[in-house]
Amino acid sequence: MKLKVISALFVASMVLNVQASADQYVSGFKNYQQAFQGDAAMAHAFKTYLSEIDKLERQYGYIGAELPLPPLQEVVPGVYVMVGSMIWHNPTNYGLNNNLAFAVFDDGVFVFNAGANPAIAYTLHQRIKRITHKPVKWVAVENSQGHAYLGASYWVDVGVKNLYASARANADFADAFDYIKDEWSRAVGHEITGKARNVTDKFTTFNERLTIDVGGGEVVELIDFGPGHTPGSAAMYIPSRKVIHTGDLAFNERMLAFFPYTYTLGWIDSYKKFIATIPPDTKVIPGHGTPTDMKTAEKQTLGYLTFLHREVEKVVAKEGRQKDVEAIDQSAYKDRPVYEQTHQHNAVHVYKELTGGDF
Ligand SMILES: [Zn+2]
Repeated sequence: MKLKVISALFVASMVLNVQASADQYVSGFKNYQQAFQGDAAMAHAFKTYLSEIDKLERQYGYIGAELPLPPLQEVVPGVYVMVGSMIWHNPTNYGLNNNLAFAVFDDGVFVFNAGANPAIAYTLHQRIKRITHKPVKWVAVENSQGHAYLGASYWVDVGVKNLYASARANADFADAFDYIKDEWSRAVGHEITGKARNVTDKFTTFNERLTIDVGGGEVVELIDFGPGHTPGSAAMYIPSRKVIHTGDLAFNERMLAFFPYTYTLGWIDSYKKFIATIPPDTKVIPGHGTPTDMKTAEKQTLGYLTFLHREVEKVVAKEGRQKDVEAIDQSAYKDRPVYEQTHQHNAVHVYKELTGGDF
């Protein structure tokens, strides 16, 4: 009887609109409960409903419909990317505003980026299953940001044992988990973010480089090229397929956005190290924007960073003020998504780094 109720509840909740909030679940169920007041067995089932749902969600990682996320693109044979929205994370993109990728190997599937919530992770997982019957065996995250990490508990729940992050990113995410989850819940939705748990203790961490044997004579190299957009990060490099997912080391199309933890001087050095390490004919899946080649990624990322440094240095040399920094002509980049929300702030950020202080 109990199992039957559980599976009936599971099916019912699959059919229910998954975007109904937890509160709507509860209130809807209370109404339902009233209609069955005289039935003791049903009353018991209702009482245990919430704990059953919780248990099931821990087993399946997420219960609900697939999200209408963008189609997969095959970048090189067997390596796919789901290119995220180039605007800010919000309910219309479900928090998918970075690039999720996966690679199919002899021994299984390697996923790069856990997604911004369990619903995104689940949706990616369903897409993977339509391409290969091989299980997801490895999951790595690009950095400590919500869209890299918050879906990780889904992958743990569905049985993935090998999870990887740079040591610094893992520590930063563990420290800020409550804050990050709260911020992404408010921006994207409590319903799809709410079940994310902190699973940083399940991660294998590395400094600089970790080589993972993925079968068939192939390896995945996880590389932290150094601080930049975030203090710790990972790139997924697959030498045999000539492809790298750089995480937020490289941007394409979309404007670079600097956060309080961004260190642009370090970013330039890390980018140069990346260019010196990775062969020039490698395909690049950037952290944001569409897949491209090494030259374009360099122009779009290092090109902007060096341009902005040069221009801010001129202002510093003339002992300029905040308004002078904000007035730097960045119009060459005006067609890049989120330009209006980032360019002046980016310039001020660089000024503070160069001068070591405020205005
Ligand atoms: Zn990002």
